[in-house]
Amino acid sequence: RSLQEVFIILLYTKISELHDDTWNIEIDETIVEHRPARDWHQYISGSFAQFRCSLCRKGWGSKRVQVLFNFHLDTARNQGTIKVRRFKQKCRRCTEAQWEDPNFPVENIDVLIERLVRNIRMKCYREDLGQTNRSSVFNGRVNGPHESAHCEACHKGVCSQTREDAFTNVC
Ligand SMILES: [Zn+2]
Ligand SMILES: [Zn+2]
Repeated sequence: RSLQEVFIILLYTKISELHDDTWNIEIDETIVEHRPARDWHQYISGSFAQFRCSLCRKGWGSKRVQVLFNFHLDTARNQGTIKVRRFKQKCRRCTEAQWEDPNFPVENIDVLIERLVRNIRMKCYREDLGQTNRSSVFNGRVNGPHESAHCEACHKGVCSQTREDAFTNVC
């Protein structure tokens, strides 16, 4: 299954929390942090994911993989749209390393969706929900500290603004 399909499936398990509106989610690598379109909201969350270098095949895990969501509710049509972008990392061994997409454990995608849904409920439906959050799972080895030089989110200035597993509300 593609990441987008997993997002859609997990979002639908929580759709009853979204006031019977229709919500769609799509991967969009073009959205930019801190510049949501008019009437759109932004939410950034960190999670654990694994990566694999497409050149040397070495794998690594990172607890600071940032995911950016932009979302919007069209109240006239009862239709919501979510765009999601995940930030990449690259291998520290290869000089020609490519930016690689993260592989999230399904459980962590579920955690991301749960946090996102809470954020949507507060911003689009004005619910007052407080700040409890389920944590991500770490099922893999993480070698050494986070390396900004190999993290796309650090390059974009997104990483430093989010604490791992923190509830971030940057709007
Ligand atoms: Zn490599
Ligand atoms: Zn980073």
